[in-house]
Amino acid sequence: MTTIAERLHDAAARIAKAATVSGRNPDAISLLAVSKRKPLEDVVAALAAGQLAFGENYVQEGVEKIQALSAAHPGHKAQWHLIGPLQSNKTALVAEHFDWVQSLDRAKIAKRLDEQRPAHLKPIQICIQVNISGEQSKSGVSPDEVLALAAAISALPKLTLRGLMAIGSDAGPDTQHREFHAMKTLFDELKGRYPQVDTLSMGMSGDLEIAIMEGTTMVRLGTALFGARTN
Ligand SMILES: *Cc1c(COP(=O)(O)O)cnc(C)c1O
Repeated sequence: MTTIAERLHDAAARIAKAATVSGRNPDAISLLAVSKRKPLEDVVAALAAGQLAFGENYVQEGVEKIQALSAAHPGHKAQWHLIGPLQSNKTALVAEHFDWVQSLDRAKIAKRLDEQRPAHLKPIQICIQVNISGEQSKSGVSPDEVLALAAAISALPKLTLRGLMAIGSDAGPDTQHREFHAMKTLFDELKGRYPQVDTLSMGMSGDLEIAIMEGTTMVRLGTALFGARTN
């Protein structure tokens, strides 16, 4: 059986190889460990192996894990990213517990997060989720809505705009290249307007090589680190 530490090591090697093939510096690509539907002990094992950034899809599950980790390991250095859909009635929980929201897709949600972020915490780090495949089933704004939402976010003091997030479609490598390439173009435009923007979150266990070729700065890996999600 492979351990989580070994899988983290393998993922780092996979990222480094794809970066080298693309003529990119592997250090320019960070790894988000997606622990959704996995137990706290998996997070603790990854943390012990040096992984600090964790992604959760479901607010309630994420908050329970965040609280349990803080209770069991006070002073830990883990950072928590929400990468799943966020409804208005859950924004207070997110504002109180998460470090990042990568799935922001509405100005109304941004405003609520800003109002509800406790004063003693750093601003929430924000990525706008873009529906780059245009599929109805996917969340996110359309590419032509990005700049307006970015302007709304950057007017809010308790939010810091860091970049964009997207989920590639499963329509095959040509389509994925095209989608990720379009995301990189949007990202460069956003970076030109907002100097603090540094995060292009795209690429998962099945398509990280394509995302790295197209310029991702953060890949989000669940299955490759923690195994298949069965529940
Ligand atoms: C589940 C999920 C991931 C991780 O997917 P894997 O294919 O298991 O690596 C990444 N990003 C988002 C938004 C997800 O929902």
